[in-house]
Amino acid sequence: MKDAERLLRRKLLRGAGQAIADFGMIREGDRLMVCLSGGKDGYVLLDLLMDLQRRAPVRFELLAVNLDQGLPGFPGEVIPRYLVRLGVPFRVVRKDTWSIVKRTLDEAETPCALCSRLRRGILYNTAVEEGCTRIALGHHADDIIQTFLLNLFFEGTTRSLPPLWRTGDGRNTVIRPLAYCWETDIEAYAALKNYPVVSNDLCGITRPLERRRMRELVDGLQRKIPNVRRSILAALAGDRFGAAPEEPRDP
Ligand code: SF4
Repeated sequence: MKDAERLLRRKLLRGAGQAIADFGMIREGDRLMVCLSGGKDGYVLLDLLMDLQRRAPVRFELLAVNLDQGLPGFPGEVIPRYLVRLGVPFRVVRKDTWSIVKRTLDEAETPCALCSRLRRGILYNTAVEEGCTRIALGHHADDIIQTFLLNLFFEGTTRSLPPLWRTGDGRNTVIRPLAYCWETDIEAYAALKNYPVVSNDLCGITRPLERRRMRELVDGLQRKIPNVRRSILAALAGDRFGAAPEEPRDP
């Protein structure tokens, strides 16, 4: 492993380890369902959890899960091929939710809310079927800050993406071990690792406009106020990332 890769890995492991400890994300005997959509965040999450699994004082299991939603041109073989090579237990769930989204919405509506609601429902049911006690998602610190700002500006709430969150019906617990990891580090590490990243605009929707604007806003602030990201994240962590009675909007 080259120096740059080793340093980045250490930094990401430190962030993930700290978040897991701060929020009690993993307990002895837990079975974690690690969600991979083909984006860099999921690959990095799985990589770090496999490393932590070897060294952590608690024993836990991992099951990687990829949901193939039937997006046009989705290369369904890419993620399973990688997971076989990695030697990690995995399951691919195929449900053509994209047809439902297309049938239900007219062209003017943004499909993301329905699309992610359907995805969540399938993943939550899969976790129950597989006996997984925790669902690990790859949202990172920048996702958390952007979601907080979106909710603040557009919804009038201070909710964000909680690092540990139990669904209202008590069936599932969601964890976000990358809550203290920055997107730039994840991107740089993913580039060095050369993960088989699947394009995230197969549906024709690029990152929602409001989220891009929040990203630009934080980037602009960061240029004027060094450490502003850290300050926002620290404030959110102190507030336990806002109380979240229901799953907040997805990034
Ligand atoms: S960007 Fe595409 S795949 Fe993602 S939630 Fe929106 S419609 Fe679904």
